[in-house]
Amino acid sequence: MSLSKQVLLKDPTNTLHRQFKNDEFWQKIPAWSSVTRAEFGDHKWQIKNTLVKIDQIQKVLGPRLSDSFYRDMLGGQKITPMNIRITPYVFALINWDNPIDDPLRKQFLPIASQSLPDHPFHMEDSLSEDVDSPVPTLTHRYPDKVLFLPTTICPVYCNYCTRSRIIGGSTESVEKDTYGANQTKWDAVFDYIKKNPTIEDVVISGGDAYMLTAKQLTYIAESLLAIPHVRRMRFATKGIAIFPQKILTDDEWVNAVIAMVKKARAMGKQAVIHTHFSSPIEITEWSRLAMERLYFEGVLVRNQAVLQAGVNDSVEEMVLLTRQLSFMNIQPYYIYMHDMVPGCEHLRTTLRTGVSLEKAVRGTTAGFNTPTFVCDLPGGGGKRHVASYEYYDEENGISVWTAPNVKPGKVFTYFDPIHCLNKDAQARWGEEKTRQEMVQSAKKRSGH
Ligand code: SF4
Repeated sequence: MSLSKQVLLKDPTNTLHRQFKNDEFWQKIPAWSSVTRAEFGDHKWQIKNTLVKIDQIQKVLGPRLSDSFYRDMLGGQKITPMNIRITPYVFALINWDNPIDDPLRKQFLPIASQSLPDHPFHMEDSLSEDVDSPVPTLTHRYPDKVLFLPTTICPVYCNYCTRSRIIGGSTESVEKDTYGANQTKWDAVFDYIKKNPTIEDVVISGGDAYMLTAKQLTYIAESLLAIPHVRRMRFATKGIAIFPQKILTDDEWVNAVIAMVKKARAMGKQAVIHTHFSSPIEITEWSRLAMERLYFEGVLVRNQAVLQAGVNDSVEEMVLLTRQLSFMNIQPYYIYMHDMVPGCEHLRTTLRTGVSLEKAVRGTTAGFNTPTFVCDLPGGGGKRHVASYEYYDEENGISVWTAPNVKPGKVFTYFDPIHCLNKDAQARWGEEKTRQEMVQSAKKRSGH
């Protein structure tokens, strides 16, 4: 463990998590060198200057972009399932002196030189959301909870997206049925929820609730609140993490959120936001101010992050992220093992990493602010605590799981990235027959 990690973990007076970046960091981007704080802080400026093409990136960076990195990004675009969409806020936080290793660049701008072949057992719909879908745009897996996807667009597109099969439009390598905010499908969803009185909890995800208009947000909230058995609504948005300026200047949208939260509370129900900070590097004074506004208005925010190699897979980053979120009144809720979806094998880590990080983070702050590390089981078993596997063949990277309350009797498997295994194990994964035998053997040893 490095000295800085020891300092962070052992010194109770360490206050790094109370420090928020507040310089004119965007002015290091050549095209934005004279952009004022007021301009950069305006949500309309952020939207207008959002980057969606490599040519735009080349234009704003000018001489700061090397030819080799430019070519690497072009190569990445040929194979990635996700289009480029990145807010100026996030773009300017990337360390353009070393973009190869930058945790933010890794999340939003794939490069060919870091790409790895998909795991043989990867799945486009790893969580089987389409299988458990009774009506389009709705997944019903747990008895009391549903997942509603009213839109498939987001303010940024993340390389690790679990719904890369539908989010953000077709790419050079993947054809998609991206539907935007298609309101014509929503009433069928509300009808289904009305007819199923066991449903108390609705997650509104996507896509990203930031991309719903104030009117759409209100329509969804009021339709759901009008259903007597719906008690809880969770609106999922990565927005606070990657575009906090919207919270500070888009009053129409923020007022719709506040009105929804207050109306829910007056009815004895809950409406909350689930956001998605992955790394402390995303957190600045803009994040703190955005959260201050929401908190003073009584909006509860929880955080869900995906564990990613080279982004947040160190004790130091995870502890700092947890403490800094807590300081801003965001409750660290979940850290997910990376789903086994295409195009992001280089970002996945081993289950052992997840278990070790969970151990290291627990005890560094209050229990209610300690995130639960989970594996969302491929095949639709739902989220399980990382240490609750039935069996783990660590050498071959195979873990075996059950989900008695979600899919009784079914056995699930999750796989570590092959490049993280030793050479012999990597060779075994190269043979189809051996692969199947290893999985069967792990299942047998698990007793299931
Ligand atoms: S914001 Fe969420 S839904 Fe959108 S691309 Fe990122 S992970 Fe996927």
